[in-house]
Amino acid sequence: MRKQASREIARERIEILIANALHEIKEDDHLANCHSRLAKKIAMRTRLRLPYEIRQLYCKRCKQFISPGKSARIRIGRSSIKAIRITCLKCGHVYRKVLNIKKNRLSSLQVASSRE
Ligand SMILES: [Zn+2]
Repeated sequence: MRKQASREIARERIEILIANALHEIKEDDHLANCHSRLAKKIAMRTRLRLPYEIRQLYCKRCKQFISPGKSARIRIGRSSIKAIRITCLKCGHVYRKVLNIKKNRLSSLQVASSRE
């Protein structure tokens, strides 16, 4: 019961930290990285799995917080398969994401909206 409550608090804190980081990245890259790292730390300590929307904000290679339009470049694939390529501008790592199910989950990042 207590564990459940502390997880609830952790989740809330993570959400706040990520929201802050997303806001901060426009002006202060370093601060955004600090907060996003803290969020990840909390998740690890409480063994919470970060939701997909949050996980994709971290580069898979350098683990830094990347934000579309700022430290990541997003390109939409030309083929019929709806896919996007995300390039981390910090380490140059490119990874692909296929958009098929629940693409509206990405709408907060304004990625898929232009192709609707
Ligand atoms: Zn990277």
